[in-house]
Amino acid sequence: MEHIYDMIVIGGGPGGYTAALYATRAGLDTLVLEKLSVGGQMAQTTQIDNYPGFDEGIDGFELGEKMQAGAERFGAKTELAEVHAVHLAGQPKRIETSEGTFFAKTVVIATGAGHRPLGVGREAQMTGRGIAYCAACDGMFFRGKTVAVVGGGNSAAADALLLSRICKQVILIHRRDSLRATKIYHDPLMQAENISFRWNSTVEQLLGEERISGVRLRDTVTGGTADLAVDGLFVSIGRSPETALFAGQVELDSGGYIVADESTRTDVPGVFAVGDVRTKAVRQVITAAADGAVAAHYAEQYLAENG
Ligand code: NAP
Repeated sequence: MEHIYDMIVIGGGPGGYTAALYATRAGLDTLVLEKLSVGGQMAQTTQIDNYPGFDEGIDGFELGEKMQAGAERFGAKTELAEVHAVHLAGQPKRIETSEGTFFAKTVVIATGAGHRPLGVGREAQMTGRGIAYCAACDGMFFRGKTVAVVGGGNSAAADALLLSRICKQVILIHRRDSLRATKIYHDPLMQAENISFRWNSTVEQLLGEERISGVRLRDTVTGGTADLAVDGLFVSIGRSPETALFAGQVELDSGGYIVADESTRTDVPGVFAVGDVRTKAVRQVITAAADGAVAAHYAEQYLAENG
């Protein structure tokens, strides 16, 4: 007879491990499946200042490890495994992974969101050859060099500031004439001596053969093009949800996010979606963690009603 967990959590970020913490404290037999290393997206952030309780901020990787340890203290198990397929309808729910098949009465989907690609020619080919998606991870490779950051949101702003401390020059390329990023970023960006801006501009072409040597920009107002010499291009234009595995099994919205309200319940009984993978307005570490607590509550209720 195969083992049937009360709960399997797919994804070991803040949403996943908070669900596991609350579930195990409620006595549920819980397994977390994580593909690579715990922490999710926040593991790529060196300084998290907006998760309360850490008055001097905390490294995202360390926070991830603390969340894992906190859940494991109450008996949550972690399996490093890549999920290949899920069968979510009916009971028990079946998860096929690189480490074998796992069964559970409830499933919490906490797979988060990955980087959104720019969609420009040769992007995949040049990734690692000048194209990067994570300033905290790859910024060091561009020490003393000139880089561009594409985007106008909080990620682009934070990445430009981080890179300005490592690189010689940082050029922020944005398709509008003003930033979407919150006000807290504006002054530091404008005051940084080595950050400049290319407003109303989109990246039309990557230049360079073996590595990026520059980008061709198109001015969205005049329609003209101009080449910009850079050693690297950081793409910070938002996230796309990691939901390919779930298409056709749970309802997704037009952006590919799993449809679930504040209860985190999906349209499949016993299946919950937490954190960045869910339809929601604010995607932060704290809102992912909050989702995890809520999912555990409703999973407990589901188990009480459905055995
Ligand atoms: P975002 O807020 O969705 O911003 C994406 C930016 O990229 C927008 O400025 C958008 O332009 C631009 N963009 C999108 N597609 C593009 C394309 N194909 N070509 C060129 N530009 C494109 O994404 P984000 O900055 O990654 O942030 C994601 C979430 O994480 C947000 O909720 C954010 O608040 C949160 N976050 C928070 C912090 C923090 O609190 N410190 C730090 C990082 C991220 P438009 O403006 O024209 O739409």
